[in-house]
Amino acid sequence: MRQCVICGYSKIYFFNRINIYRYFLCKNCNTLQLKNNNIISSFSNNYKYQVNKVTRSRLISNSKTILNFIIKHTKARNSLLDIGSGYGYFLNKAKKVFKTTLGLEPSLNLYKYSKEKFNLNVKNQSFENFYRAQNNSKYDAITLIHVIEHIKNPNKFIEDALSLLKVDGMLYIETPNLDSLKKISILLNRSLTHTTNILSTF
Ligand SMILES: [Zn+2]
Repeated sequence: MRQCVICGYSKIYFFNRINIYRYFLCKNCNTLQLKNNNIISSFSNNYKYQVNKVTRSRLISNSKTILNFIIKHTKARNSLLDIGSGYGYFLNKAKKVFKTTLGLEPSLNLYKYSKEKFNLNVKNQSFENFYRAQNNSKYDAITLIHVIEHIKNPNKFIEDALSLLKVDGMLYIETPNLDSLKKISILLNRSLTHTTNILSTF
């Protein structure tokens, strides 16, 4: 029987199909989930997403908004860990505010870009591997910006991330919202997922 990966509810329902990807909806927690997720290779070395003039300025303005939110709600400015740092636009802003910043980016393409363009402190590593090897470093802020929807076991992932937070630290999670995606997809008459390689939408 199909089970929700988030809340464990035993009944989830077929929602949509895009090419070979089949999405199911949990009626309990309203999370949209991709079930045949063994075909996902979103964190392979070749993974990248397109950045053009419009998306670049959106990434930069989103980065500012996120950073302002974090600054507003946390006092400590010592250390920030950005899991899935991507092209590095957010970390490049965050490093001007936090004393030390570290990014984790499993895709070699994205990692290289963030090193070459912004000279950021980034490891070409998955969070899982980093977590296994870490030496009890704790962070004032940990960010998961459009990352959790790509993770096979998000509950465990969040638990592990929380364990790396300092007391009063902040875990910031940003992920697609199903209700707003539905509205946008109707408006634009387009598929409701921004990419087919996401596992969950909340
Ligand atoms: Zn659920």
